[in-house]
Amino acid sequence: MAESAYDLVVIGTGPGGYVCALRAAQLGLKTAVVEKRATYGGTCLNVGCIPSKALLHASERYEEAGHDLGRMGIKVGSPQLDLPAMMKFKDAGVEGNVKGVEFLLKKNKVHAIQGTGRIVAPGKIEVTGNGAARVLATKNIVIATGSDVARLKGIDIDEKRVVSSDTAIALGKVPERLLVIGAGVIGLELGSVWRRLGSKVTVVEFLDRILPGTDLEVAKQFQRILQKQGITFRLSSKVTAVDNSGKSLKASVEPASGGAAEVIEADVVLMAVGRVPYTEGLGLSEIGVRLDNRGRVIVDENFQTNVPGIYAIGDVITGPMLAHKAEDEGVAVAEILGGHAGHVNYDVIPNVVYTFPELASVGKSEEELKEAGIAYKVGKFPFTANGRAKVNMTTDGFVKILADAKSDRVLGIHILGADAGNMIAEAAVAMEFGASSEDIARTCHAHPTLPEAVKEAALAVDKRSIHM
Ligand SMILES: Cc1cc2nc3c(=O)[nH]c(=O)nc-3n(C[C@H](O)[C@H](O)[C@H](O)COP(=O)(O)OP(=O)(O)OC[C@H]3O[C@@H](n4cnc5c(N)ncnc54)[C@H](O)[C@@H]3O)c2cc1C
Repeated sequence: MAESAYDLVVIGTGPGGYVCALRAAQLGLKTAVVEKRATYGGTCLNVGCIPSKALLHASERYEEAGHDLGRMGIKVGSPQLDLPAMMKFKDAGVEGNVKGVEFLLKKNKVHAIQGTGRIVAPGKIEVTGNGAARVLATKNIVIATGSDVARLKGIDIDEKRVVSSDTAIALGKVPERLLVIGAGVIGLELGSVWRRLGSKVTVVEFLDRILPGTDLEVAKQFQRILQKQGITFRLSSKVTAVDNSGKSLKASVEPASGGAAEVIEADVVLMAVGRVPYTEGLGLSEIGVRLDNRGRVIVDENFQTNVPGIYAIGDVITGPMLAHKAEDEGVAVAEILGGHAGHVNYDVIPNVVYTFPELASVGKSEEELKEAGIAYKVGKFPFTANGRAKVNMTTDGFVKILADAKSDRVLGIHILGADAGNMIAEAAVAMEFGASSEDIARTCHAHPTLPEAVKEAALAVDKRSIHM
């Protein structure tokens, strides 16, 4: 028997699910969320974006205290690492954020139900937890169950010495040697955290480059900077096995194309080869919801699956696995269900690697434009020529703007530099409004600021930078 009737039940309270529920409630829909974790906020708030950024922030301050403050005339002596206290700081940040979501759900009168949801029929969700089961009746269902850690065949994650990001944000001790499998965002961010805290970090990557999909020129310079900081990269290589029988872990590393294996010893191995959509136990095959060949829920332009009344958003569908992409899809589907025109512009989704310096980009890379046969102009400006970066001692990196050769419309902006993650917002707004590089170049930018480099790169598209 159905317990109560809703307009919408969202399964999962990550950034996709909880934002969808809040927007739906704002629009007057009777809304509930189902969450199997003890706390709300999903991967992002509990074990993803928030804890990793807390550790990146804290470890950056630690490194700054050890290396840079003295150069500014601030003597702090040799900083001491109190790892348990740093972890507590991180946990407090997570707690504040997940409680914030709980508060918002309550404030918006979203019915929050703890338990595991399974769709037993269109409009019917069985929720189990604490030994009991109940069935919710609803007009619409949004699947927002997110993603899980991707694994490599033959390498077991024991979450002790061979760990996923879930444990890499909570290690009890700084590993002397950390081997990271995968040079994607998560591997580089968490590799940076532990390098700053004292680990010798080696990153093994199957491809011949780091950060696949990112503009290659930017990625190459980024790799050089990370190497200068002490991270070792083994590109075009694959880890085929990890022997955990001894005191040290022994990872077998082979050339990607095959060949003789070499052993790299480590104290901790971090598996960071990506994430996979999570649909386990949802009952999708039983009710006929179609998945693609990578296990993602297939949706149409309105986020509806092939089963009417069942929608999906976030990491569980196609597109970049990013919190803000999930949020925007959550808002869009809520607006569609509320009778409005929900829409996500997939051409303007910023992507940030929160290392130091940060790497932030939005729009197309040079490689993508070449592949699409689009003629483009390039404008670049280095932070070595930016006054604020000079006094801040953050001159690593540059801004690169790609604009259509004929119309001058901005097609991509890539920023490698301190605070790039904040600066990319200007780029996204400009692109959302269809800006030309000339528009950015003619926009007055405050001095002295790092975003002046964005303006200068826009000027450089027509070869008229002032400070170069
Ligand atoms: C270490 C790390 C760092 C990251 N950093 C960033 C970052 O800086 N910026 C960024 O944009 N993205 C980042 N991400 C990615 C980001 O976390 C995801 O893109 C985002 O969380 C996806 O949101 P979602 O709502 O689709 O799913 P999720 O956040 O994964 O939430 C899904 C929720 O559904 C619940 N659930 C699953 N199945 C059921 C069920 N049957 N019943 C009830 N509940 C269920 C899960 O418990 C979970 O809480 C990071 C990820 C990781 C792992």
